[in-house]
Amino acid sequence: MKAIVFREGSKWAVEDVEKPQVGPGEALLRVIQTGVCGTDEHLLHGGFIAKFPLIPGHEMVGEVVELGEGAEGAAVGDNVVVDNTVLCGECNACREGRDLFCERFGSLGCNMPGGFAEYVVVRASKLYPIGALDPDIAVFAEPTACAVHGVDVLDLAPASDVLIFGAGPTGLILSQLLKTAGAARVTVAAPTQSKLDVATALGADHTVQISRDNPAAATAALREIAPNGFDAVIEATGSTAVLEMAVPLTRTGGTVLVYGLAGEDATASLKPYEIFSRELTIRGSFAQAHCIGRALFALQTGRVRTEGLITSKVALGEFDRAIANLHDSSEIKTIVVSN
Ligand SMILES: [Zn+2]
Ligand SMILES: [Zn+2]
Repeated sequence: MKAIVFREGSKWAVEDVEKPQVGPGEALLRVIQTGVCGTDEHLLHGGFIAKFPLIPGHEMVGEVVELGEGAEGAAVGDNVVVDNTVLCGECNACREGRDLFCERFGSLGCNMPGGFAEYVVVRASKLYPIGALDPDIAVFAEPTACAVHGVDVLDLAPASDVLIFGAGPTGLILSQLLKTAGAARVTVAAPTQSKLDVATALGADHTVQISRDNPAAATAALREIAPNGFDAVIEATGSTAVLEMAVPLTRTGGTVLVYGLAGEDATASLKPYEIFSRELTIRGSFAQAHCIGRALFALQTGRVRTEGLITSKVALGEFDRAIANLHDSSEIKTIVVSN
């Protein structure tokens, strides 16, 4: 079968690889399509939890074409989304119920074969049948699940005032989910006007355009919206400059959520006295465990809408375009169509 393969040294190619075989409890999926995410580029350069050679793609929708012995969770012919996490269930973290921090944390498309391929094998217990849901909506199940986990971590009080930095797929999904989870008002700040327009169309109350080179210049406009600061500020860009401006924009007693993926060695400078004297909370949210079911429900009920999010579809052989689109500010989500 054809698959994208990442190799050491930031190299990738479309390769002919062996079609995977199902074992007991596993399912073979004919991949329909898989979302491309900024994490994929970090993985290409050896970041996050990359393990080479790697077939990337962690946001997949597929059709079950074969089930291994004893496999339960879906039937042959079902369209499904996949919980791409593989948790060992036996390490200390798993045994203590903190399995997101599994010491052998596996993630299809990050350190195990993922969806940028014609076929993928997954644990059948990790399948979520989507019924007649459009694969163009279902393909957002994984990023929505990560957002669900972020909202869990944020633990918002009812009627909160929330600011989100970033209007990529994540920011646009979070902006909607937060409204079902306690936010009375959501402000989205990002550099690209066309993405802010999508944020508005999907229900954001305020949008503020920020400069990529000088994000702090937008502080005054954000202060105007919330003179005493926001109850929660979500950094969903991965920019350390944005994280630095997020802290002073947080209301006394409020929370900063670090959601964007910064470089492993990146540092930001925060004032400890400010965190101390204003009793700020800084939290992180990096992935998800057990959130796919709720994410799918939010997509099925329309509480999270995805109109306008898919801006490109490419074939496996056009993966260079998928990578290039990650740097094109007019693109929101690129989908790789496998079959
Ligand atoms: Zn992702
Ligand atoms: Zn474990």
